[in-house]
Amino acid sequence: MSSELPTAPDSLPKYIVEGIPKQSNESLRDLQAWIDQLIEYREAVSAEDIEADDGEEIEEVDESGGTTTVIKRVDCGKDACTKCPETKHGPYRYEVSRQGGKLVWDYKGPVEG
Ligand SMILES: [Zn+2]
Repeated sequence: MSSELPTAPDSLPKYIVEGIPKQSNESLRDLQAWIDQLIEYREAVSAEDIEADDGEEIEEVDESGGTTTVIKRVDCGKDACTKCPETKHGPYRYEVSRQGGKLVWDYKGPVEG
């Protein structure tokens, strides 16, 4: 057992680093449980939450992993494009999570083969 306060991760904002050590052990355990629930909530984006924007076409929603992966085709919106609006571009892979009540689409690149 160390007698020194463990060093906070550098990634944490100052108000968190200063506020957390002041809490009781009970509050810290509650916080720990709540953080787990928050992470689970953010990562668990179900297929019903996924909506295609104008000109987009969802090909697949995979909820089997820890995150939600969406494969979709997108319309570039350019009049001169030979692919749009019929075949579109892609398919591209995205990982979708929830941040502050909004869905965040993290582009992971084109789907191979
Ligand atoms: Zn196009």
